[in-house]
Amino acid sequence: MIRLEAVSFRYEEMKMLFDASFPKASITAVIGPSGGGKSTLLNLIAGFEQPLSGRVLIAGEDVTELPPDRRPVSMIFQDNNVFAHLDLRTNVALGISPGARLDRAQEKRVEQALAEVGLSALAHRKPGEVSGGERQRVAVARALVRDRPVLLLDEPFAALGPAQRRDMLDLLRAMQQARGLTVLMVTHQPEDAEYAASHTAYLENGRVAALRPTAELFAAADIPGLAAYLGDWRSKPL
Ligand code: ADP
Ligand code: MG
Repeated sequence: MIRLEAVSFRYEEMKMLFDASFPKASITAVIGPSGGGKSTLLNLIAGFEQPLSGRVLIAGEDVTELPPDRRPVSMIFQDNNVFAHLDLRTNVALGISPGARLDRAQEKRVEQALAEVGLSALAHRKPGEVSGGERQRVAVARALVRDRPVLLLDEPFAALGPAQRRDMLDLLRAMQQARGLTVLMVTHQPEDAEYAASHTAYLENGRVAALRPTAELFAAADIPGLAAYLGDWRSKPL
């Protein structure tokens, strides 16, 4: 479980205050208007940003003062996940140890992660020689070799077409189940949340305005701003 206890943060005039608990061992989607604080929320959990006040707890442990690499967290971004001059295997290995030589067991973990995301046959290629979806699989494999219980994804599949996105969501669900991961996934696609997330959080103006089982959240009529944000998405599939 991830808990933010009255976590405050500000960028200039934009003040944020997060107070929420995200369920353990499941996928929670994070939706809401641009500038609402979705990326900041993930950065506070990962430790890339420090709260002005409040506490961040992961599995009951206060991680507020811990640097990112000491938190039980991996993060995947929309882009900038791969190094163009390194082959896919090396990109994945960076998740374990930047620069250092891997031992036998670590090499095996890299091979397993490559196999799990379906990239074994392409492992010697450079990122420029594979598709966008395959590049995001590299980012997923790199997160897998780190073997952390919390996985944060910030609009990870936004640049992919619908079929590739669906494949990646299937992969994410399989990984979540196999490893019991606690996953937070920022997305602008309500159908991605519906497809993959047991719960969905709606963020607006630097706050978690609602966090409910996904179907309940999308059916809710009592959350100001949500209907305007979602619009008539069911009649206009993307
Ligand atoms: P979202 O991911 O929901 O679009 P963000 O968390 O990126 O929202 O941003 C929340 C608010 O913080 C926005 O008002 C944004 O302009 C501001 N912000 C984000 N990052 C920075 C930054 N590095 N410097 C200044 N303001 C920022
Ligand atoms: Mg963002």
